[in-house]
Amino acid sequence: MARRKPEGYLNGRPLRPESLMMSYGYNPELSEGAIKCPIFQTSTFTFKTAEEGKAFFEIAYGLRRRGPGEELGLIYSRLNNPDLEILEDRLTLWDEAECAAVFASGMAAISTTLLTFLQPGDALLHSEPVYGGTDYLLKHVLPRFGIRVVGFRAGAPPEAAEAELRRLGLAERLALIYIETPANPTNALVDIAAYAALAARLSGERPVLTAVDNTFLGPLWQQPLRHGADLVLYSATKYIGGHSDLIAGVCLGRRELLDQVRFLRTIFGTMAGPHTGWLLMRSLETLIPRMTAQMKTARHVAEFLNDHPRVDRVYYLGNLTEDDPQYEVYHRQCSAPGGMIAFDVVGGEREAFRLLNALKLIKLAVSLGSNESLAEHPATMTHADVDPEERLELGITPAMVRLSIGVEHPEDLIADLAQALEAV
Ligand SMILES: *Cc1c(COP(=O)(O)O)cnc(C)c1O
Repeated sequence: MARRKPEGYLNGRPLRPESLMMSYGYNPELSEGAIKCPIFQTSTFTFKTAEEGKAFFEIAYGLRRRGPGEELGLIYSRLNNPDLEILEDRLTLWDEAECAAVFASGMAAISTTLLTFLQPGDALLHSEPVYGGTDYLLKHVLPRFGIRVVGFRAGAPPEAAEAELRRLGLAERLALIYIETPANPTNALVDIAAYAALAARLSGERPVLTAVDNTFLGPLWQQPLRHGADLVLYSATKYIGGHSDLIAGVCLGRRELLDQVRFLRTIFGTMAGPHTGWLLMRSLETLIPRMTAQMKTARHVAEFLNDHPRVDRVYYLGNLTEDDPQYEVYHRQCSAPGGMIAFDVVGGEREAFRLLNALKLIKLAVSLGSNESLAEHPATMTHADVDPEERLELGITPAMVRLSIGVEHPEDLIADLAQALEAV
């Protein structure tokens, strides 16, 4: 559970995250009364005394335990900075996490976290498909450090993954289960609770950790810690940033785990800068209105695509029906279908490209979760380096277009798609 600061309560009851995003963790008196937290554009911080500097370093480097209520003082912006610390406090509220660490990118968060908990000889189990950069890290970088990596298809039962680990003689060496759900771009779901239970079953002296990349639905529509995950990861470049103007990442979890992640972040220097921290605080203030508008608009757009004669198939969480095994997982794990839609146009790459080239309001670009709607072609863009056979098996056809819905008026987006589908 989150260790909230006293200001997180009113009359003894916890305030909701959206009510706290403009103020939590920030004391205006320390900044000339400024209503907004200023940008602390500084590399280093002065100590009042040498003794204070010594005490700060003892805590930062884990040379002794913290005293009761003792906080880590400000030292140097690779270790800590007010813009990051206040942002991290605010991020914990959404996922009800004890602790957060902000990074220079989603990939910085993922790579630093994985290298914190893996060592040569360990095995890692991961869902497929995963984000392209993550896919490369898992399949080409981690094996160079003696880590065995085994994939399972999103939607597959954990018993099958366990059998595969046993067949390979890796069940005892499993250190971490890495999950990305919903999967990009097909929205296939992974049952977090079922895989966290597998992690518990395979835990020995050293516990097997479960980490979830929650970029697609979080932090609003899915909270992995509630379903048994140990760590939550984000590309904050996407919904959390939400304005296509920054690159950042986040890792959240228990203090005992995050202390280790933060230590390696200090050593690798993968933290975000103060300006990015400041921009992200600005973004979090409007997280609910943005993500809610995007989610509602996506419903309208999906309905339009579902009925369109030039659209073959629509991949959208709101389309799941009771006879689909993913339906039960969706209702247990997610609270809304989010703002991501993929669809196959009738035809192939030529037809998909015609549609993309004809769009006027929706921009042709990769990335997602921003306030402007974006469209892209997964097979030749975000998933271009996935093995072509595997790509087809995963359902990423040459006819597929991926949409990230923004905050524009739904009728304008539908009009744009309608005229572009005419052009096909
Ligand atoms: C974009 C993305 C990443 C990588 O994040 P960056 O901020 O671009 O480094 C990781 N996972 C998912 C699901 C993403 O969409």
